[in-house]
Amino acid sequence: MKIAIVGTGYVGLVTGTCFAEIGVDVTCVDTNINKIEALKKGIIPIYEPGLEEMVLRNAKSDRLKFTTSLESCLNDVEVIFSAVGTPPDEDGSADLSYVLEVARTIGRYMNKYKLVVTKSTVPVGTAQKVRKAIQDELDKRKVNIEFDVASNPEFLKEGNAISDFMSPDRVVVGVESVRAEKIMSKLYKPFLLNNFRVIFMDIPSAEMTKYAANSMLATRISFMNDIANLCELVGADVNMVRSGIGSDTRIGRKFLYPGIGYGGSCFPKDVKALIKTAEQNGYKMRVLKAVEEVNEIQKSILFEKLLKQFDGNLKGKTIALWGLAFKPETDDMREAPSLVLIDKLIKAGCSIRAYDPAAMEECKRRVGDNTIYFARDMYDAVLDADALLLVTEWKEFRLPSWAVIKKTMLQKIVLDGRNIYDRKEMEEQGFIYHYIGK
Ligand code: NAD
Repeated sequence: MKIAIVGTGYVGLVTGTCFAEIGVDVTCVDTNINKIEALKKGIIPIYEPGLEEMVLRNAKSDRLKFTTSLESCLNDVEVIFSAVGTPPDEDGSADLSYVLEVARTIGRYMNKYKLVVTKSTVPVGTAQKVRKAIQDELDKRKVNIEFDVASNPEFLKEGNAISDFMSPDRVVVGVESVRAEKIMSKLYKPFLLNNFRVIFMDIPSAEMTKYAANSMLATRISFMNDIANLCELVGADVNMVRSGIGSDTRIGRKFLYPGIGYGGSCFPKDVKALIKTAEQNGYKMRVLKAVEEVNEIQKSILFEKLLKQFDGNLKGKTIALWGLAFKPETDDMREAPSLVLIDKLIKAGCSIRAYDPAAMEECKRRVGDNTIYFARDMYDAVLDADALLLVTEWKEFRLPSWAVIKKTMLQKIVLDGRNIYDRKEMEEQGFIYHYIGK
């Protein structure tokens, strides 16, 4: 089977590589010439564990190819997955310009049946816009060629993307023809050996499922952050509350971690887009508006704690940051809470020493080379620091040598934004230690 994946970002590259891994002939398309040239040379533009060797292996076997021209491969493939970006528009709704541009290109150049599958996260009704964009181009050409559209939202998590794609909890596919359903069943069948389910449904429900899933997860995070903030005021400990409620099987243990707010390329924009979709349909998403509000406040929580620690004056203080990426195992800094923190620290007159195992280059690109000191490692970051702020819970930060750190820091203050350290142990080591929700 031959397929094309349009958009070679986090989702497109992982999707293409994983399909190639199960024997599909895949062409990855991207308009970003630098990205494609790099990939042709075996340079992977993103950090995703396990991805590099899989790309290299499949490219070597010629099952995974890269091009900037959709036109050049379009008529060799039966299925086109569109995985281009859908960034938020100024009003919060999803910008569909890339998705529709891909659809128009398909309509302009296709000369036989195609199944056009949208993998990007798109609002309900987008598949019909894709259908219309393709049909308009066919009409302009005065040709009548059959095609189907389908929706196959992606649920992979950056940092665990390969395993999420290879053995997902489920695959959701929205179709409106038997032909499309058959093709999608065939494509996903090899993964079925791992015992997971493909859930077929109508297209609007598939489009909605993705937003509902991300909004539910964002809701859990904001809910727990709200509970954590209240715990601090009433003298409860959110870590205990979390294990207390998580053991209820109706609630479950996952996604109950308080912290410094959600970020990344998905939750913030998808929550915004769903609120917008509701508005456009005369409905108010009251819960989601509160989810957003709590999240905005939470991004400043470490800064507020720090300010309190230094009686409202941070001028001249040196602050060490461990972690910059919006979560571990990724170099993605889109909407990362660390960016809000960095901005506030700089405005308050602090010097920043930061270290992240993967996101330093991306952070330099965003805040500039000279604004903060990018440390060689986690120990270099704490040198002469007045306080250490744990921002992203990378594994390597979990068991540091506190004895070494104690000697290098100016003041022994640790503010833990992800609740990964043990309070008793930290206090025994002589640190002033605060975490979220106590
Ligand atoms: P990304 O920004 O990493 O990649 C998008 C790519 O599309 C870019 O490389 C860009 O150059 C390319 N592109 C744009 N227009 C194009 C065109 N006309 N032709 C070819 N290529 C084009 O984005 P991403 O993180 O992979 O996300 C893609 C979609 O998947 C979004 O809708 C996102 O919401 C959704 N999604 C993302 C994740 C995630 O964890 N990143 C998870 C699930 C779903």
